[in-house]
Amino acid sequence: DRLVGAGADGEDQAVEAALRPKLLEEFIGQERVREQLSLVLQAARQRGTAPDHVLLSGPPGLGKTTLSMIIAAELGAPIRITSGPAIQHAGDLAAILSSLTEGEVLFLDEIHRMSRPAEEMLYMAMEDYRVDVIVGKGPGATAIPLELPPFTLVGATTRAGLLPPPLRDRFGFTGHMEFYAPAELQQVVHRSAALLDVDIDPAGAAEIAGRSRGTPRIANRLLRRVRDYAQVRHDGRVTREISAQALDVYEVDARGLDRLDRAVLDALLRLFGGGPVGLSTLAVAVGEEAETVEEVAEPFLVREGLLARTPRGRIATAAAWRHLGMAPPVQGGG
Ligand code: ADP
Repeated sequence: DRLVGAGADGEDQAVEAALRPKLLEEFIGQERVREQLSLVLQAARQRGTAPDHVLLSGPPGLGKTTLSMIIAAELGAPIRITSGPAIQHAGDLAAILSSLTEGEVLFLDEIHRMSRPAEEMLYMAMEDYRVDVIVGKGPGATAIPLELPPFTLVGATTRAGLLPPPLRDRFGFTGHMEFYAPAELQQVVHRSAALLDVDIDPAGAAEIAGRSRGTPRIANRLLRRVRDYAQVRHDGRVTREISAQALDVYEVDARGLDRLDRAVLDALLRLFGGGPVGLSTLAVAVGEEAETVEEVAEPFLVREGLLARTPRGRIATAAAWRHLGMAPPVQGGG
């Protein structure tokens, strides 16, 4: 439940449906994936067949679920949504697959987290539109083959490299989603503001975009917090100043770092002179578990070029010193 966390919280789920673009041309950014996907979909439409299975890879909050819904909408097909962790037994998957209608899109989020037996059943379903349903147990068990209607699987994963090669190879097309550029996020904020009936100027949208870590989900969430602030403390209108004031209240800084991120950097600079320092020592200094520091704070700090992981420990870069308003030391500041 971090304001700058990329996963969906309860409030996001409630609002996201209203904010999702419905068609490919409304989808902002991801030029390459959009163009590639548009070709796949047009070709399938012209041939009158179900398109190849699609794999979408990339960090949470970048629009994978949204794109899967767009794929279905563009094909005029219904969509079924489920996820890897929800499919623990092959039987769970068999039940879903056998109830699909012809041409239906099946969205399988976090596909890398499916159980092994389900994964193997999926291979056959993807390739031959067939599953073997096992009836009974032990030596008396029999496999009953079941024909499936042609369907399109859209799998989503945070990293394509997490998928076993036999599964990866069964996708005809993989779209690699990238973090969004500030100008793209600014468009996302504008679009969402219009849907939420928020009066925002371009500089206000740019300010929110700059603090959103390249992630539309975070941009939409920050916009809602800024809206609250603008409504309660001012007249509802969102400008650069209002956005900055609101997000300062929520401790999301100009670069999208939150309290934890800054605490890690601050300890690294003030207590350890910029490092190198071991992860566990750094974690003790900020009063967090090593895992939290490593998995929650560090990935973004590394991505932003503020912190580097080296064999000798964590070190701060010159940009980190500058970000916290301090001069980098002449030596060893990275
Ligand atoms: P993922 O499945 O990758 O975690 P979602 O598809 O659920 O991400 O997107 C999260 C939120 O961000 C949704 O509210 C969606 O409307 C918004 N969003 C994502 N990508 C875009 C985009 N390209 N244009 C506009 N809004 C987007």
